[in-house]
Formats: sequence, C-alpha cells, structure tokens
Amino acid sequence: MKVASNLELIRKQINEACMKVNRSPEEVTLIAVTKYVSTERANEALEAGIFDLGENRDEGLLEKWEVLQDKPSWHFIGTLQTRKVKNIIDKVEYIHSLDRISLAEEINKRAGHKIKCLVQVNVSGEESKHGLTPEEALVFIKSLHSFENIIIEGLMTMAPLSDDEHLVRACFRKLRVLRDQVQDMNWDFAPCTELSMGMSNDYSIAIEEGATMVRIGTALVGEAG
Ligand SMILES: *Cc1c(COP(=O)(O)O)cnc(C)c1O
Repeated sequence: MKVASNLELIRKQINEACMKVNRSPEEVTLIAVTKYVSTERANEALEAGIFDLGENRDEGLLEKWEVLQDKPSWHFIGTLQTRKVKNIIDKVEYIHSLDRISLAEEINKRAGHKIKCLVQVNVSGEESKHGLTPEEALVFIKSLHSFENIIIEGLMTMAPLSDDEHLVRACFRKLRVLRDQVQDMNWDFAPCTELSMGMSNDYSIAIEEGATMVRIGTALVGEAG
C-alpha cells in the first residue's frame, strides 16, 4: 500500500473528470476517509499532501486526533448519535451527516462557534441508507434558521452501490438540483455551496455532476492496515 502513488492516480482522475466538464480541480476537495486504517496510515496520507481526513465514528476520530491533532481538517461523515456530539464538536471542521432536528439542537447547544454542516440526503431511497428524502430536505433546512451555531454549507449523499452508471449519475444529479434549490432560497444560514458526493468507485461521475467534496477511503488509503 503506497498512499502517495494512489494519490497521484486519484488526482489524475480528478483532473480528467474536471476537464471533461470544464471545471477547475481546485473546486474539488479530496477527503481521505481513514475509518478502516491506522493513525500511521492516516499520517502517511497527510505526508503525501492530503489536508482533509474523514471519520465515521467518534472513537476513530478521537483516537487519531490524539496524535494528529489539528494538522488535518477533520470531517465527520458517519451517522452521529446525539450523545456523541460533545466528544467531537470542538475537533471537526465539517459534519456531513446532519439528518434530524434533535441532532441540530445538540450541535447548536454544544458548539462554541458556528459549525459547518452538510445535510445528508437519501436520494436513492434505499432503506439501508440514512438521510432525509429530497422532499423533506428543503423543509428541514428551513427549520434550522434559528440555530445560531449551525451553518448549512451543503448537501451530502451516498449513491446506490450499483454498476449501473446511469443510476449513480442520476442520484448525484438529483442532489445537485436540490442544492441549487436551497441556494435559490438565499437563506443566510444556508449558503449551501458544497456537494459532498463520490467515493472510491464513483468519484469521477460525482465530479462530472458537480461534487465539491469527494470522500475516498479504499482507493486512497486501503481498507486495512
Ligand atoms: C466509508 C465511507 C466512504 C469511503 O468509502 P470508500 O468506498 O472506501 O471510498 C465515504 N463516505 C462515507 C459516508 C463512508 O462511510
């Protein structure tokens, strides 16, 4: 496992996907998802030039944070239990998985400053996936207007695990349309510029469809070690 050579390949693919649709690669933040791997491997990613790390459990984030502190920017990308908020709130730059009012209330209460949040949307409608339906998302975001410590920076989704490129693309496209709808509301608490979508097996499609953040684990840092 060589993170540096994986990174080189991924950067190349990101550039190619951007070129295809006339976007600048600078618009795309690459988040290394380190949930399967050790702190040493995560550090290897930082040494290779990554700035953003993603974790989906508070334990994993805290373990790595002990060593890496604020060297990277931390992204919380997993289902967040309300009682875990206090453990991570002063360590993360982004929470990608805001999906309910009770969680928003807890974040708002525990935060000492504005926390950048993305609303998780279950575009594909798969039962196994968390997140709001696209229909619920706009109403949900509107209801966050009074939370002074929450700023809605964008939307996040996971595409269905499928070889059908059209299905995956349609999912990403739907999230972008929804993002544009939120932007059109001109809510000051929801600039909603970010689209967090695309993982190891679908990030090129996600970028073609407008992703500004891709969350890559396996293809970049491996799935163990
Ligand atoms: C694990 C995970 C990823 C990364 O998945 P890979 O397929 O390993 O790239 C991205 N996003 C979320 C929310 C995850 O839980």
